Amino acid sequence: MKKVKIVEEKCIFCGQCQAIAPEVFKIEETAEVLLETISSDLEAKVEQSIEACPTEAIEWVEDNS
Ligand code: SF4
Repeated sequence: MKKVKIVEEKCIFCGQCQAIAPEVFKIEETAEVLLETISSDLEAKVEQSIEACPTEAIEWVEDNS
């Protein structure tokens, strides 16, 4: 399964990713990824969030496990 992260230094807390995928992203005082791994049915929403993020702060993480 895939993993995703938010690069906090790039995040401007606009909330777009949370609006698209509230199961995955929680944006309040901090930018959090709620799920350890992203199931295949959520991958499309994460992809949409990556495209919508104005600062390209969301990245897939290589999972070598
Ligand atoms: S869409 Fe990008 S900039 Fe906006 S809150 Fe999410 S990670 Fe941060």
